[in-house]
Amino acid sequence: MTQSDFDADVAIIGYGPTGVSAANFLGSQGLKVVAFERDKDIYQRARAVTVNDWTLRCFQSVGLDQTLLKDMDPHTSYRWKTYTGKVLRTVKVEPSTMGQPPAMAIYQPVMEQTLRDGAARFADQVEVRFGQTVSAVDQDGAGATVATADGQKVRVRYVLACDGGSSATREHLGISLLGDTIETRWVVIDARVKRWWPERHILTFWSDAKRPVVDIALGLGNHRWEFPLGPDESESDFATKEQLWTLLGSMGVTPEDVEIHQHAFYKHHVRKAERWRDGRVFLLGDAAHLMPPWAGQGMQSGIRDAFNLSWKIALVIKGTVVGAEAQRLLDSYQAERAPDVAFMTAVTEQLGRIIKMQMTAKEKALAGASALLARIGIPIPTLPVALPPALVAGWMTGKRSKQAALGKMPPQPMMSTATGKYGRMDDLIGPGFVLLGDNCDPADLLSAEQRAAWDRLGARYVPVRAANQGSETQSDLIDLYGTLISWMRAHRTKAIALRPDRFVAADQPTGLASPCDPNS
Ligand SMILES: Cc1cc2nc3c(=O)[nH]c(=O)nc-3n(C[C@H](O)[C@H](O)[C@H](O)COP(=O)(O)OP(=O)(O)OC[C@H]3O[C@@H](n4cnc5c(N)ncnc54)[C@H](O)[C@@H]3O)c2cc1C
Repeated sequence: MTQSDFDADVAIIGYGPTGVSAANFLGSQGLKVVAFERDKDIYQRARAVTVNDWTLRCFQSVGLDQTLLKDMDPHTSYRWKTYTGKVLRTVKVEPSTMGQPPAMAIYQPVMEQTLRDGAARFADQVEVRFGQTVSAVDQDGAGATVATADGQKVRVRYVLACDGGSSATREHLGISLLGDTIETRWVVIDARVKRWWPERHILTFWSDAKRPVVDIALGLGNHRWEFPLGPDESESDFATKEQLWTLLGSMGVTPEDVEIHQHAFYKHHVRKAERWRDGRVFLLGDAAHLMPPWAGQGMQSGIRDAFNLSWKIALVIKGTVVGAEAQRLLDSYQAERAPDVAFMTAVTEQLGRIIKMQMTAKEKALAGASALLARIGIPIPTLPVALPPALVAGWMTGKRSKQAALGKMPPQPMMSTATGKYGRMDDLIGPGFVLLGDNCDPADLLSAEQRAAWDRLGARYVPVRAANQGSETQSDLIDLYGTLISWMRAHRTKAIALRPDRFVAADQPTGLASPCDPNS
């Protein structure tokens, strides 16, 4: 098939946070995209409440992090507290090494608008058809055809189904959604803040077996409470603002403090699609996996799915990676993302057990130790979800180990170019594959075949020098605080090969060969 047989490279079904992120990532790769969104406007109910350093690093790659951050506020700490005032656990938000703030409160509709504006920068390539419901997806060996309810048809090479938890694409493909839905219904109340109250900024999980409540400051002067409905309560008991005020009133919140502006009911799900790829069609975001909100990882997981898959699809569509290797690369999407989503879901469930006072004996012991530490002024340093991201398997050369850099995401320090231009590492090294050498040219560590394989991927080779050394070439980077060099040395490698998503694809101990080098 020729290029002219296709209307676009990729069709995106659903333009929620996952779909619009994919549009940005694919647009920045130079691909032609058609996105279909059944709604005419952004869904105005705020759902997700937070993003972290990893997610912001994804958006940094498309130049959107600073614009997004303008509408976000920092989280400072989290606590799990009972109504009697006992603190079960506190976590202080620590600075991140990722070159991004560690945890930011968002206001989802505003964030989605910024992402839509971001995708509009690629207007020549990214076309969005609002008010269009996709009704069928058919595929063959050469491509896929996406049809809408009103008879439009678009022929593409690949399809990204970002159509949410009740994904019709997933159903159409006969892919089961495994897992459970927890029957308790929750009411989510969003309000605008009129006056500050003590410790409003501390994200508090009011932990209680009967009425656990989430109490969280959102971005742009908004605040959120989430209440479970009791067994004898229904949505009609909380249909009016007066009824909602009985809930807020029970938390000591008054109309002098906030103005309620919306509420919604929802159930929690712990579910995943049995497979995330069917030939040319991929499931992303809530279409592929659903988790409760306790760790704030649902939306972010969808964004990371889109980031993980976009550069891989671009390599395949551009013909950089072909044949069986192309299939292996595309299959690595689920191989890499599913373990991360499973980890985030497990952490989420654990945090949920604290708020519902359903902790296991081990978790109770941990909570006890945490409370003790908190009492003597030492907060538990971090949540597992805040650890630097790492792949457990996937498209990389060799096997991961705890000590190795392979599969990990290195820190993003401030650096300087050889000519004295300061900036964050990712901005200075630019997009795509980059090999970084600790005080050496990483290209010198490669055999001719290895070099050729990295060249085929368009890799660049960057020597990294310490600040007390002189540069040797124009492409040298200066590690001003020694952060990256220390990280490489701690991981016992003289060089690392970064993928476009900044995970280490190869390191010196595993031979520095590209994952698609036949000799690797
Ligand atoms: C109360 C609550 C709190 C949450 N808190 C957090 C949090 O703190 N952090 C976090 O990361 N996540 C959180 N989440 C989860 C987060 O909101 C979702 O994971 C996220 O919105 C999923 O994004 P998505 O784009 O995959 O799906 P969706 O947001 O569901 O978007 C899917 C889009 O596809 C469109 N669509 C569907 N079918 C079709 C079709 N056939 N044709 C065309 N368009 C179609 C829909 O109109 C929709 O716009 C929370 C969720 C809830 C309910």
